[in-house]
Amino acid sequence: MSKVKYRYNPRTCKYEPWYLRGKALQDQLAIFIGLSVLLACGFYLTFTSNFDSLDEQLLKRENITLRTQWQILEDRIHKSFSELNGLIEKDDKNYRVILDSDPLSPEIRQGGVGGSEKFSLNEIGNFPALVYDYTILEKLKHNLDIEVQSFEELNELLNDRIHMWASRPAIQPINNNQLDRLHMSYGSRMHPIFKVMMDHNGLDFSASRGTPVYATGDGKVTTAHLSDSYGNVIYIDHGHGYETRYAHLSSFAVKPGDKIKRGHIIGYVGNTGNSVSSHLHYEVIYKNQHVNPINFFQRDLSNKEYERLIEIGNSQSKALD
Ligand SMILES: [Zn+2]
Repeated sequence: MSKVKYRYNPRTCKYEPWYLRGKALQDQLAIFIGLSVLLACGFYLTFTSNFDSLDEQLLKRENITLRTQWQILEDRIHKSFSELNGLIEKDDKNYRVILDSDPLSPEIRQGGVGGSEKFSLNEIGNFPALVYDYTILEKLKHNLDIEVQSFEELNELLNDRIHMWASRPAIQPINNNQLDRLHMSYGSRMHPIFKVMMDHNGLDFSASRGTPVYATGDGKVTTAHLSDSYGNVIYIDHGHGYETRYAHLSSFAVKPGDKIKRGHIIGYVGNTGNSVSSHLHYEVIYKNQHVNPINFFQRDLSNKEYERLIEIGNSQSKALD
C-alpha cells in the first residue's frame, strides 16, 4: 500500500492528504523522464570515451600484430641488404681480381633505380613509411638482379679460365721424374745431319723406342702423319692460341679429330724423320710463334728441380735432330 503524502493547508490550518494529479503529475513525469534521458546519455558518453567496443579491441589487437610483423619484415630487409652488400664486396674485391676482371662500375650497380615512382601510389596508399619500405625493396631487387647477372658473368669467366688452365701445355710430355731425359734445350745448335748451325725450336727428350708420350694439355689432335723432317708427328690444338708438336714418334695412339685430355698417351717415342737417335722432339707454339717449352714446366716442378732441368738441358752439346 502506497504511502499517503500530507501537505499543510494554511486556510484550514491542518495537514491534509495530498494527491499528485493533473498538470502537477505531468510536470513531475516530464522532469523524471528528462533526468533519466540525461543520466543515460551521461552514462553512454562516459562508457564510450573510456572503454573500447569489441570491434575496436579486435582492430587494436590486429594493429599491434601487424606492426610487429612489419618490424620483423623491415629487419629482414635490412639484413638482406647487409648480406647482399657482403656478396657485392666479395664479387668486386675477390672473385673479379682472381679472374682478372674489372669490378662492375657504380653506374651499372646504381643505374635504373627509380625509387618510389617505380610503383603506383594507388597500390599502397600515400603512407610515408610504406613508400619508404617499397623504395628500399625496389633497390634491393635491383641490386639483386645486377648481382645475379654478375655471378652469371663470373661463372662464364671461371669456366673459360678452367678451360684455359686445362688446355695450357703445363707438364712434360714424357715421364721424366729423374730429370735425366732432357737432352737438348731450345736455341741454336749444330744439326747432326745437315752439319750447319740451325735454330732448335723445341726440347729433345732421349728415351728408348716405345716410351709413352703424353699430351701436355687438353686439346684436339689436328695432325698425326709422317713428315720428312719430323717423321711421325702429332700436332695438338689447345685453343687460346696454344699448339704443341710431338715428333720422331715410332707410332700413334691417336688420330686427327680426337679430343684428348692432359696426360693421355698420344704416341710412342721413336727415331723417324731427321733424327739420329731414339728421342722425342717437343715444341710449343703460342699465337703462331715458337716459345721455349721449358717455361711451361715450372708449375709442375719445384724451383730446385726446375733450375736443375735448365742446367741439364744447357749442358748437352750433341744434338739428336
Ligand atoms: Zn729436337
